[in-house]
Amino acid sequence: KVTQHIEDAKEKTLFSFEIIPPQKGKSIQELYDNIDPLMEFKPPFIDVTTSREEYIYVDKGNGLLDKKLTRMRPGTLGICASIKHKYNVDTIPHVLCGGFTKEETEYLLVDCHYLGIDNVMALRGDAMKDEQYFIPKQGGNDFAVDLVKQIYQLNNGKYLHEVMDVDNKADFCIGVAGYPEKHLESPSLQSDLKRLKEKVDAGADYVVTQMFFDNAKYFEFVAKAREMGITVPIIPGIKPIAVQRHLQILPQIFRIDLPEDLIHAVDQCKTNADIRQVGIEWAIQQSLELKAAGVPVLHYYSMGKSENIRQIASKVF
Ligand code: FAD
Repeated sequence: KVTQHIEDAKEKTLFSFEIIPPQKGKSIQELYDNIDPLMEFKPPFIDVTTSREEYIYVDKGNGLLDKKLTRMRPGTLGICASIKHKYNVDTIPHVLCGGFTKEETEYLLVDCHYLGIDNVMALRGDAMKDEQYFIPKQGGNDFAVDLVKQIYQLNNGKYLHEVMDVDNKADFCIGVAGYPEKHLESPSLQSDLKRLKEKVDAGADYVVTQMFFDNAKYFEFVAKAREMGITVPIIPGIKPIAVQRHLQILPQIFRIDLPEDLIHAVDQCKTNADIRQVGIEWAIQQSLELKAAGVPVLHYYSMGKSENIRQIASKVF
């Protein structure tokens, strides 16, 4: 369990990271090639994201297009099982409300349990690309808090439909998302924190934050969360800037602010390699400060590429 790993580390900051399943049709080898160099930093757990389904348009051959629902990056649970076995490391599948009925979620959780996966990250998921708002699947969970409640029930042997004998109850450690700069749909940070508290009260054991580039935002968020009575570990999520476009798309997608100094440093760069280096240096400084402040884990968003994370980890751990 993540909480057990944190306890066992006895205040030492742990290293962990998140990976994204390869695109449909690609080989898992690419994933292994990116995980291999990070294993020297002994991550106690690795997160594997789940992608939402999306609509694609397929040519019917008669000049007309067919709209089809598909998942471009499938395989989260299989990848979790495979990595767990190959590297002897705990893996954490991200479980979404979006696109799943409660029944389908239960099957997924039962599979996790069979596979000895003891942690899950409970998330709502975003709206699909051509939806303006998040719409749950009929019979699915509306918000992450509802998913947490479902997992909590399962931990207590309560299935959606009656099971005669539960002799091996699931006991998932549940992670949820937190937003130091508030979630994009939330009217205020305070209101978002109340929602976070609801997730913790419903049974979440730890929080992983959205990426941020100014540590002050994380420290303020943690202070406010503690004031509100949220006592579980709050793990900072770090993403190194890697390309010029990140300056536009990260604020656009996640509604986060980038510090002026970082923007200026990226703007001064002449090559992509220079930008990557700026991103690495920024993440190293962020990580060192967070580590000195005693954060339990530094969790990196690798986006499937590990070389920059390796360079950061080699200076921090
Ligand atoms: P929720 O906690 O449900 O909150 C969503 C919004 O609803 C917030 O604005 C909240 O304030 C509000 N809210 C909550 N409860 C209620 C209520 N009862 N009534 C009214 N409003 C409410 N996305 C993926 O698709 N796949 C992933 O693998 C993935 N991994 C992620 C990992 C991390 C660490 C983070 C931070 C995000 C991840 N996401 C992922 C993105 C996430 O799915 C989106 O940010 C999504 O929009 C919100 O998810 P949530 O779990 O925070 O939702």
